[in-house]
Amino acid sequence: MNQKIVAEPLQKIIDNFKSLPWIWEKTAQKLAFFSVKQSEDFLGEFWKNFSDLKKNITECEKCCNFTEKNPNEEKNFCEFCKKIWRDEKILCVVENPFDIFPIEKSWIFKWFYHILHWVISPIDWIFAENLRIWKLLERLKNENFEEIILAINPSLEGEATAIYISRKIQEMWVSVKITALAKGISVGGDLEYTDELTVKKSLENRVNV
Ligand SMILES: [Zn+2]
Repeated sequence: MNQKIVAEPLQKIIDNFKSLPWIWEKTAQKLAFFSVKQSEDFLGEFWKNFSDLKKNITECEKCCNFTEKNPNEEKNFCEFCKKIWRDEKILCVVENPFDIFPIEKSWIFKWFYHILHWVISPIDWIFAENLRIWKLLERLKNENFEEIILAINPSLEGEATAIYISRKIQEMWVSVKITALAKGISVGGDLEYTDELTVKKSLENRVNV
């Protein structure tokens, strides 16, 4: 006999949660049972925020960071790209938007950023053309950076991506110094989870590529 252990509507929510990255079966169950106990207002706000997300968020025209969509503007720029007091000679390339947080928190570094949106990882079907590398190369043609810091997480995929980008930049013959984070962030470690002091030190002691 095929007996249902969980009521169908709850099972659907469990399956929704399970389809998210970093959420395992047990967590999905806990979140679903937590949700069913909440008020309709609480759940309604979740639903509204989720349904508005794609409508109201876009990628920054320059750095590819997520930013709020302004329907009155032809091009949308994020808060970092709007700031004129940033050092316009240095461009810091990161994997994901949340990798900016530890760098910004170290407060002495106020550069411009470029977000790749992940790294090359053929096993996950992510190839160079899926990333915002083409947009980075376009920026190098149009803006006068003196240094590009590849602040990419030191995983195998991260290092392969850094090598790919530096080759592409060298092929363009633009005069720009390419640097990478100094060792200090453990291999496989994420910038996101590394303490601010380590991030700061590895940026201060960055090495030529
Ligand atoms: Zn931007």
